[in-house]
Amino acid sequence: MDDCLFCKIVNKELPSNIIFENDRLMAFKDIDPQAPIHFLIIPKMHISTLNDLESGHQELIGEMFLTAKQLAKEYKIAKAGYRTVFNCNQEGGQAVYHIHLHLLGGRQMCWPPG
Ligand code: 5GP
Ligand code: ZN
Repeated sequence: MDDCLFCKIVNKELPSNIIFENDRLMAFKDIDPQAPIHFLIIPKMHISTLNDLESGHQELIGEMFLTAKQLAKEYKIAKAGYRTVFNCNQEGGQAVYHIHLHLLGGRQMCWPPG
């Protein structure tokens, strides 16, 4: 989609620190990390928000979580623990309107979130 930051990252029109990629997904380092490990896992196809999910996206969303699990293992935060977050729309704290799963770890997480 034109004018979408993460579509530009997918198309390599903008640089990013890619840590995983396949035909459907990409994972890269967050530009403003909120934890020692802070990756964003995104579908290559443009989906604006969680509200736009359809039943056909079921496998894609599952693969995003399985990728988070795999990256947590590779980056050695699986045992200590980590957090996965999807923000949706303004009150949910979404700033980039191409869905992304945050994977955060390497420090103690607080609950409830602010
Ligand atoms: P949201 O608030 O939409 O859930 O999260 C958007 C995330 O994207 C933020 O954590 C922000 O730091 C990250 N971000 C915004 N612009 C860029 C960018 O150009 N490159 C990368 N790697 N991350 C970005
Ligand atoms: Zn997009």
